[in-house]
Amino acid sequence: MSEIKGRLAEVRRRIEEAALRAERPGADVEIVAVTKGHPASVLREVAASGLPIIGENRVDEAELKFRELGRLGFRWHMIGHLQRNKAGRAVQLFDVIESVDSLRLARKLASETERAGRDGLEILLEVNTSGEATKGGFAGEEVLQAAAEIVALQRLRVVGLMTMAPFTSDEGVLREVFRRTRELFERCGREIAGFEARTLSMGMSNDFEVAVEEGSTRLRLGTVLIGPRPGETA
Ligand SMILES: *Cc1c(COP(=O)(O)O)cnc(C)c1O
Repeated sequence: MSEIKGRLAEVRRRIEEAALRAERPGADVEIVAVTKGHPASVLREVAASGLPIIGENRVDEAELKFRELGRLGFRWHMIGHLQRNKAGRAVQLFDVIESVDSLRLARKLASETERAGRDGLEILLEVNTSGEATKGGFAGEEVLQAAAEIVALQRLRVVGLMTMAPFTSDEGVLREVFRRTRELFERCGREIAGFEARTLSMGMSNDFEVAVEEGSTRLRLGTVLIGPRPGETA
């Protein structure tokens, strides 16, 4: 068994246990294998593990991997801050943009999607629920107003929210961030016609069990699945 396969089995077991605690089906939680910072060869290992989605946080890096390997059957998700001047390239490459953090970016993505002759680009709106200045995303309730404007844009499908919790082991803080994000997600679904409340992307290597307990439907997992990124300490 490859290392990734072994780690995946353990991660799935931990997801199941967290889901059980929350009395929800673990099968409702999908996994994005975050391959950023790893060489292209790692994508082959991920493919062999059977995981269907990869996450990259930089357009340049993702393009290099794509040129070397092709799609490899994955759905490619953009999870990092996207500069507007790279929106066109992102639309060419990615199936889903999880990190839409401004109205201006959403407008640019809509026009680039049209230009590319694509329809229905799936996006998530990123929420900065913790209020940390270093994080991108709509500040809390501002996402409601933004979502109302973004669903009106042609060519985009707004299918949920994404958040990054602060890097802390304080479970109370994590839980509060995830709970507030879930509340915003549910409000968007109720209050905004055209917002498809399908995906709540929250939970990373250090906090995914709390995220599952608080209703996440998509985890973005790098280190815990693939190991430390080269050049970063574990
Ligand atoms: C790097 C990254 C992840 C994965 O981080 P790990 O701690 O390695 O699991 C998830 N989401 C985003 C947006 C990231 O940039």
